[in-house]
Amino acid sequence: MNITSPHCASNAPWLKAALHLHTTSSDGKQPPQDTLDDYARLGFDVVAFTDHNAILNEHAIAPRADVLAIPGCEYRGTGTHPEIGVIGVRAPLPRDIELPEAVAAAAATGAFVAYNHPNWHFDHWPAKQMMACPGGHALEIYNAIIELLPGTADSTDKWDILLTCGHRIWGIATDDAHEASHRNHAWTMVQAERTEAAVIAALKAGRFYASSGVTLGSVSLDGGVLRVSSPDATQIRFIADRGAVRSTVAGSEAGYVIREDDIFVRAELIGHAGARAWTNPVFVETERSRELSANFAAWYAQQPLT
Ligand SMILES: [Zn+2]
Repeated sequence: MNITSPHCASNAPWLKAALHLHTTSSDGKQPPQDTLDDYARLGFDVVAFTDHNAILNEHAIAPRADVLAIPGCEYRGTGTHPEIGVIGVRAPLPRDIELPEAVAAAAATGAFVAYNHPNWHFDHWPAKQMMACPGGHALEIYNAIIELLPGTADSTDKWDILLTCGHRIWGIATDDAHEASHRNHAWTMVQAERTEAAVIAALKAGRFYASSGVTLGSVSLDGGVLRVSSPDATQIRFIADRGAVRSTVAGSEAGYVIREDDIFVRAELIGHAGARAWTNPVFVETERSRELSANFAAWYAQQPLT
């Protein structure tokens, strides 16, 4: 059994990151400086500016020692295709472009690229369309602003489809804040030194977890057992292909023995008042899991787009 895990022992600190937000540079209510200062007050370490097709003018903000500002954008080429999160980009992206080229163009810049709020309007990004647009490193598995809009904030259903079909893709959580009251509902905890290059590299490598309020204590792979702990979770679930819940454990630590027929395994940690954390998956390769994944991918390829 070959298991690949993004969770590795590291002495790097955990950084609280806002990876999707808006300012007066597009349809947000506060200018970039006020937005940065507010995220600093809320305890964030990293703030990625992702205005609609507008990249942060770095001269518009005063650098802060306590928060790393990263320029990016929420990108739509023609304005008709679903939205793409691009983090760590400084040059404008091409506008006269459709899918899948828009995702490829974003990825070609070296930025971290995400499929944003796949379940906004319930199907903003069909799972099949994400698969047909390679280049994204992650999807937003939880986008808190969608709690206030038509659709569902949680997109783990689509994450599990992609993972089951063999796509190695990570899950981020964001608040997509357009004003102060939208902030600090969901974030991504990245294990990296506080430099733009280190944060982008850690995001691409999956060295992070998504959270809407639960803290991950540790996650490790130990001889075929995936172990998770948390200071504030009350329940831990281990989830495998097609979203199947393999195990539910009450309490704040748990282990799961990985099976021959697992394609991937990820953990969800549940806390008080519906707060959650989501680990990135470990990927399992056995003869059986490869066959199951190939069969599911072949079946899924025959299905309609939505
Ligand atoms: Zn947005």
